[in-house]
Amino acid sequence: MLYAGIAWSADGYRVEVVDADGERAVPGTHWGAERVPELTRWLGGGDGGMPRGRCAVALESTNGLVDGLLTAAGLEVYRVDPWLLGERPDFGSVPALALAELVRTRRATLSPLTAEGGGQSGRDEDYHDGIRRSAPVEAELTEAGRWFRHGPRDRPEIALTFDDGPDPVYTRQVLALLARYGVRATFFCVGLHVNALPDEVRRIVDAGHSLGNHTWSHPFLPDLTARQFRLQLDRTGEAFERAVGRVPAVFRPPYGARTPETLTELLAGGPALALWDVDSWDWARPGPEKIARTVLDHAGPGSLILMHDGGGDRHQSVLALPAVIEGLLERNLSFVSAEALAGLPKAL
Ligand SMILES: [Zn+2]
Repeated sequence: MLYAGIAWSADGYRVEVVDADGERAVPGTHWGAERVPELTRWLGGGDGGMPRGRCAVALESTNGLVDGLLTAAGLEVYRVDPWLLGERPDFGSVPALALAELVRTRRATLSPLTAEGGGQSGRDEDYHDGIRRSAPVEAELTEAGRWFRHGPRDRPEIALTFDDGPDPVYTRQVLALLARYGVRATFFCVGLHVNALPDEVRRIVDAGHSLGNHTWSHPFLPDLTARQFRLQLDRTGEAFERAVGRVPAVFRPPYGARTPETLTELLAGGPALALWDVDSWDWARPGPEKIARTVLDHAGPGSLILMHDGGGDRHQSVLALPAVIEGLLERNLSFVSAEALAGLPKAL
């Protein structure tokens, strides 16, 4: 049995692997965010990397971008929650070696992640508690026109949104389908990927689509301090600025999780908070037909529809997309950007 820790930083991932005695099994490696598919194969014993055999992988709850691919590849993946980590950096995770050591020595106390459960599984109480406590701040943001879950129900408009990209494989496939039907969408991108794949972000903008901020590393917001959240937001805005010369006007919290401590940061300014009212559940990979049916069963005027073009194996999302678009077009709904649906400007 081998034990791997994956740490995120401003420029990608650091991976350390130890054996049953806590000795480094291979030298530490660094991977750009665009190489996560390759990293997944390497950890699974392919591409001539790791010795074949079982490998347990540990990640922080602030790293929500690699578990989808790792679990889909059949790897054993564990989330390390903050109470096991002590002091954490404001931007980045604790060292990969510390994570590898935790999964080696305390695997039974860590939360196992599954492809079906998603990255925040086992944290339902913190998730719902954060949402409950956020109600007053959300009321203030709503009052200021800076919090929305859908658009007006009396206009035949919807917004199709894709989260967790840009992705080196799936973003282009989604863009090709949107172009085929001549419809517009909004891409809620993560800073780690924007930074690693700026050409993909430019491709999105050049095709006439919109952008949203989806944090840097897809953290579970209840585990962040206000300062850590601020850095996730701002660094991602800066990556967008470098890639396309502007900062998105909308922000979407990973998993839809929020807390008053983090949302207060949005009161002073910055992007408006865009949730969704139609979840395609495409990340759980229930099959393309089921994904399309779920969207079409729930969408109507004003809907803000959630799909994914990154953060995992998204081929089902791509396969479902033609039926989704055709079904919405048949209802004479027009496709607008998320910010247009809420009557907001395109960029900050
Ligand atoms: Zn997401």
